[in-house]
Amino acid sequence: MCGIVGYLGSRDCTSVLMDGLEKLEYRGYDSAGIAVFEGKEIKTVKTRGKLSAMKEKLEIEGRPIGHCGIGHTRWATHGEPSDVNSHPHSNGRVTIVHNGIIENYAELKEFLTEQGYTFLSQTDSEVVACLLDYYYSERNPGRAITETIKELRGSYALGIIFKDFPERVYAARRGSPLIVGVGEGESFIASDIPAFLKYTKNYVLLEDNEIVRLDAEGAKFYDVHGIPIKKEVQTAEWDIEQAQKCGFPHYMLKEIHEQPDVVQKTLDSLVKDGVPDFSEIGLTDEMLRGVHRVFIVACGTAMHAGIIARYAIEKLARVPVTVEIASEFRYMEPIVGEGDLVIVVSQSGETADTKAGLELAKSLGAKTLAVVNVKYSAIAREADMCINTLAGPEIAVASTKAYSVQIASLYLLAFRFAYARGIILESELKRLTAQLCKTPDAIRRVIAQEDECQFIASQLINTETLFFIGRGFDYALSLEGSLKLKEITYIHSEAYAAGELKHGTISLIEHNVPVITVATQSKVLEKTISNMEEVKARGAFIIALCRRETTFAEGTVDLRLNFDFGGLDDMLVPLPTVCALQLIAYYSSVLRGNDPDKPRNLAKSVTTE
Ligand code: GLU
Repeated sequence: MCGIVGYLGSRDCTSVLMDGLEKLEYRGYDSAGIAVFEGKEIKTVKTRGKLSAMKEKLEIEGRPIGHCGIGHTRWATHGEPSDVNSHPHSNGRVTIVHNGIIENYAELKEFLTEQGYTFLSQTDSEVVACLLDYYYSERNPGRAITETIKELRGSYALGIIFKDFPERVYAARRGSPLIVGVGEGESFIASDIPAFLKYTKNYVLLEDNEIVRLDAEGAKFYDVHGIPIKKEVQTAEWDIEQAQKCGFPHYMLKEIHEQPDVVQKTLDSLVKDGVPDFSEIGLTDEMLRGVHRVFIVACGTAMHAGIIARYAIEKLARVPVTVEIASEFRYMEPIVGEGDLVIVVSQSGETADTKAGLELAKSLGAKTLAVVNVKYSAIAREADMCINTLAGPEIAVASTKAYSVQIASLYLLAFRFAYARGIILESELKRLTAQLCKTPDAIRRVIAQEDECQFIASQLINTETLFFIGRGFDYALSLEGSLKLKEITYIHSEAYAAGELKHGTISLIEHNVPVITVATQSKVLEKTISNMEEVKARGAFIIALCRRETTFAEGTVDLRLNFDFGGLDDMLVPLPTVCALQLIAYYSSVLRGNDPDKPRNLAKSVTTE
């Protein structure tokens, strides 16, 4: 959520900051701002709205000219999106940008008011600027920061400049991501690497409770007490190409198209000699044999990937699996402990609730396994073991390719699980793995049906409400298809297990209400068809996503999308099928004039609870 950038070097700071904020747009935001040293003065320009509004404001108010500054895109948590609530915030001698939530801001505000401070904005963040000023004395910014962060509860990544030090940028973090870019004679801070990738691939990960100071000599790191610490400089494997649209009109469409390749890449990294091999990450057969229960803890799309995994692991390995919404799991006093495997799934690896679920599971004695797409993320580092999916940077807010690589790697885990527990033989393990390795081709075939998906989307142009139904794996897909659609089209949509509809929700079906039926699973096909008949009898407009050879009674289906899965096991067809659901959502969004990459009210990596 939100983006922070900071720069110190010889380039035009305003350009570097604006460019960096653009690269962080994918994180979601509602306002933006920058503060740059012009000589000894700090010039701040900020506004509600998108970066285009910011550019206009820079034209009107004048671009700050300088070489040192901080910038921010805000995703409001406290106080409406407005010019005055936009960051940076200044008070006294300090200017800051903040990502996260200061949970004890009200009590700090009361204290600071008693000390004579006044507040301009309704944000929680402004108290940080005041508190820093309160603790700033004898021209010692380091001490002001260490004293301040001791008092903050909640999560923060902070970019800070002090009026007395026009050639320095400070930053600190706890709970929200912050990365330091280390260039030649220049340094950066940012919420994510793409913000400075154009200038340097070398970066240092700031950990919780660490502080960094950028000055003419480079970046210096300190612990929470202000004691200098050594940090390892790493090199990003991405290149700038991967973080760009490459001719596609939107990141989302580009990312949908990348799926055959990134699934292939992820499978290649986890398959050795034709079988899934997790030994490199420390996940052994012996460990899998000892697991009594599995919990999959995640949010949103990653949680839907968890539901697919649940069906696969239970079917193959006969271990009980529960899928838990992370924000519930962390507060429900779960009965989890030794002998349990808790799998946390998160694209960014920074999802606050999932991270808290991981910490809880660890504290209760469970073994933890992360499935994340960002290898330098907090969750990746905290879990006992980590499967690093290889989707590359996912920029569009609505997750597509990250979901596919999550399920691809979780299938491999299910296969290995079943083998380790003696339920399948090596020959079956090899057969299943070979089948999974065919999914990139099946995905390619579905993506080639893009025009048909666009046509289906065009039939939904006047729809205000719709339903997705399916059974088993098709139900898990329905949940994801429905979420994707509502995220970016704002159409009201619900997903139901096909057999559950008649227990209440069928009352909402009336003439012409679209029901998208996912009907790929042979074992339950007849049952699903009966459910289609039930809604058809009540006037539904039925869109069926099914195999080419599936037949329906005349008049049941209004529109169908026929798949050729090339002989894939039923269990694996969610991988290609989800691409059709993503494309239908994408085109529905575009046809309605929305920007699918930046849906309203949503942020990419949800670093707040
Ligand atoms: N809580 C702060 C605010 O509402 C920062 C939000 C963010 O992370 O952008 O201004």
